[in-house]
Amino acid sequence: MRTAIVNIGTIVSGNWKSPFVAGDTIVMADGRIESVGTAGAAAVESCDVVIDAGGTTAIPGLIDSHVHITFGDYTPRQRTVGYLESYLHGGITTAISASEVHVPGRPSDAEGVKALALAAQRCFAAYRPGGIRVHAGSIILEPGLTGDDLTEVARKGVWLAKAGFGAVATAFEYGPLVAAAKTAGMVTTMHTGGSSIPGSGAITGDHILAVRPDVSFHINGGPTAMPDRDFERVVRETDIALQVCTAGNLRTTLLCARLAREAGAWDRFIIGTDTPTGSGIMPLGILYTMAHIASLADIAPEQAVCAATGSNARVYRLDTGVLAAGKEADVVLIDAPDGGTQTTALAAIKHGDIAAIGAVVTAGVPRFVGRSRNTPATTAKVRVASCRIPQDFSGTGH
Ligand SMILES: [Zn+2]
Repeated sequence: MRTAIVNIGTIVSGNWKSPFVAGDTIVMADGRIESVGTAGAAAVESCDVVIDAGGTTAIPGLIDSHVHITFGDYTPRQRTVGYLESYLHGGITTAISASEVHVPGRPSDAEGVKALALAAQRCFAAYRPGGIRVHAGSIILEPGLTGDDLTEVARKGVWLAKAGFGAVATAFEYGPLVAAAKTAGMVTTMHTGGSSIPGSGAITGDHILAVRPDVSFHINGGPTAMPDRDFERVVRETDIALQVCTAGNLRTTLLCARLAREAGAWDRFIIGTDTPTGSGIMPLGILYTMAHIASLADIAPEQAVCAATGSNARVYRLDTGVLAAGKEADVVLIDAPDGGTQTTALAAIKHGDIAAIGAVVTAGVPRFVGRSRNTPATTAKVRVASCRIPQDFSGTGH
């Protein structure tokens, strides 16, 4: 399938070092981006679907790097079906599992956590609710797992590992497990802050510095923050990715954003929601956190977008999150919300408003065009300009 977006007002690349791309057109073919910026008339005319962006802003599909996946499009924690499709209507085109810890009766023995991670990875390998891409299967690091166990599941396709919910006496015990998971080639993540559920202990700067995961999960607290003095140590003394989550402490999110920018560590600053959890289901969570850091921590709005897209992709080694030729074709059109005081999406984010979503394209396929069922309406009209396939993208069924 070939899809084009024309008449784009601003293109945000997702790459924080070079956050804008000149031009007004994006062409996608067979799930990949063919060109960004300009395209010849023939390249656009040969498309199955052409979307008129109406002068709105194109950004890479948002990546939520902290989603509590279980199985199917269902969250046992909030007893709700269809939440992932709802997240797509919040502009999230990629969801990364924070481990399948919410599966009812989840196992804690070595064979059990291996089987759980592998089953989750397989169940979402080709299943895309509403069009969202889900990277599931994050093995819960438990005492008793060996390096051979981790190598075995890594060979079978599991590439995420989570420290924080194992039956350890102290979090320092995660050190050898995280090291073994890294050796097996996995991206390792570690709970940070006060305990999130009864039975798990607080994890603070001393633990993070000793264990050295790739990602400090919800460094701002999930939902309870670690001591303020520990943020500067993790920012300045390590190269660990600094993940802030919507369902956490907002004050320390802003503290961490300022520290990361001042320390030249902005490329490690990434955004997730840490939902669905006790805090609820938050389809617009990434949009809120982008608006919070842009409006309250004086981060440029395009840099807030990069933290939720290209920077997440780099940390998690994904081939999306950046609008460039050859990348996976995940594109979102955003605009100033109708009836607000601002005229562009980036100005609205800077102002503290969440952006309105006008269209979501994943794997080069339009999932809806015109309006999201979850955000306010866009100010400018996004519409299908031409369509050669028998499908209605208007989403009027919502
Ligand atoms: Zn979490």
